[in-house]
Amino acid sequence: MTALVSGLEECGVDPKEADFLITHMHADHSGLVSTLAGEGARIYSGRADAEIIRSSTFEHWEKLIDSARKCGFPREELEKAIGSHPGRRYSPNTSLSFRPLKDGDTISIGDFSFGCIETPGHTPGHICLYEPSKKILICGDHILFDITPNITLSFEDWNPLKEYLTSLDKVYGLDVEFALPGHRNIFKNQKERIRELKQHHQARLEEVISILGKGRQNAFQVASQMTWDIGYKSWDSFPSAQKLFAFGEALAHLKYLEEAGEVGWGIEKEEIMFFVTANKKEARKWQTLT
Ligand SMILES: [Zn+2]
Repeated sequence: MTALVSGLEECGVDPKEADFLITHMHADHSGLVSTLAGEGARIYSGRADAEIIRSSTFEHWEKLIDSARKCGFPREELEKAIGSHPGRRYSPNTSLSFRPLKDGDTISIGDFSFGCIETPGHTPGHICLYEPSKKILICGDHILFDITPNITLSFEDWNPLKEYLTSLDKVYGLDVEFALPGHRNIFKNQKERIRELKQHHQARLEEVISILGKGRQNAFQVASQMTWDIGYKSWDSFPSAQKLFAFGEALAHLKYLEEAGEVGWGIEKEEIMFFVTANKKEARKWQTLT
């Protein structure tokens, strides 16, 4: 709050007179909006993410706990992870009213005219903004340059990795001179990074297949063997919340492979177990985990 308010002050912007746009619903991008926005402020977001913020109730978290349990996340760890989850602690007020944006909508301010690009993947309703005459792309968490955006299956019946890869293609061809991501450094161009991100996910998919080559496993077991670029020595020493993010990412890759017919799943002792399929027919249809 202090950093944001002083940054706005430096730009001569009074938050009480400003309109707001959130690129997506994650708490680190949206949490302060209910405190900062003045009474008549317009608050823009993607449609799907506005809906998620509205429905982020106690039941939503209960569902998430239940689904994660079925995929092998240990109960005690899960309670710790949910207790410290930023989405639970810092999300904006659920009664906030958003103005939903869709592909092609424009927001004009002074000399700038930003077009909205829907980029589902990091979240279902993620949006980017593109200013063609100034060649500026505001990417939110769609493209990050020093870290990779978290792609997670949050237990809805969708394929986030597939949508994410399609959304990367959607912004690849834009002529960009300033790419402004939601975290860390500003970059000149998105193209090379998009190629790297695609390679990264291809390598992760191959890694998941090789882990499952050892035999059937639940998603928590798969996550624990994937390679994570994080400053902890072993999976066991990861903080619980980081384990939950890693687990969601593993599930997103499993879901992608399942839809591609390369991975199947079945229920064993009330737990969902994944396995590599010999052929596409063998892959069973994914059912909504909730
Ligand atoms: Zn995010």
